[in-house]
Amino acid sequence: MVAGAVRYCPIVKTALRILGLACLSAATGWVLLGLRASGWNLRGAWRSACDLCSRPAGFRYAGPVFGRQPEVVCLRCIADGTAAISLGLRDGIRAEFTDVGWGVPDDVPKAVREEISQRTPGFIGWQQEHWLYHCADAAAFLGRVGWDDVRPLPDALASLRADLVQLGVDASAAEEQIAAMHRDGELTGYLFRCLHCGTHFAYSDAS
Ligand SMILES: [Zn+2]
Ligand SMILES: [Zn+2]
Repeated sequence: MVAGAVRYCPIVKTALRILGLACLSAATGWVLLGLRASGWNLRGAWRSACDLCSRPAGFRYAGPVFGRQPEVVCLRCIADGTAAISLGLRDGIRAEFTDVGWGVPDDVPKAVREEISQRTPGFIGWQQEHWLYHCADAAAFLGRVGWDDVRPLPDALASLRADLVQLGVDASAAEEQIAAMHRDGELTGYLFRCLHCGTHFAYSDAS
């Protein structure tokens, strides 16, 4: 079970965060969607060499890089921190793949924030992307989602409603927005799952 895997080494834990969809979706066929949505591009990447380690990249990272922009960077180099160091812009300032400068609960340790910002591939959203957290830890990103994807997930629906209401959207308009979400549309959800308790939660944004 994924929940038990949080005892594993940091590299395994990082892999669970970014490939969480693979665990969830064996029955749904979402695995490739999740990889793409997580910022990984499969096309042509298998034989392309990573700019940093020169090994075949496998997956090509296509998400945000707050640092020097690589042509090809592999999962290994992001997960072990090589990419954060090598793509840094100035002395001592490491490259980041997700902005963790806001919206992080106080009970999330600094080491977790660094794991997400420096050793976990980011994902591409319409607006500024942000990671979600639960049980004092960063959650696994499962991918972009639409109404059909979240309809069977009452916990994810509750979080989407709460997020919109907190932004000032009234309850009925929030329901309409959630029902209009599409994973490839101009109104999109971003789904996460807690590695500890299994709760799903999400936020949405628009073009
Ligand atoms: Zn590499
Ligand atoms: Zn939790």
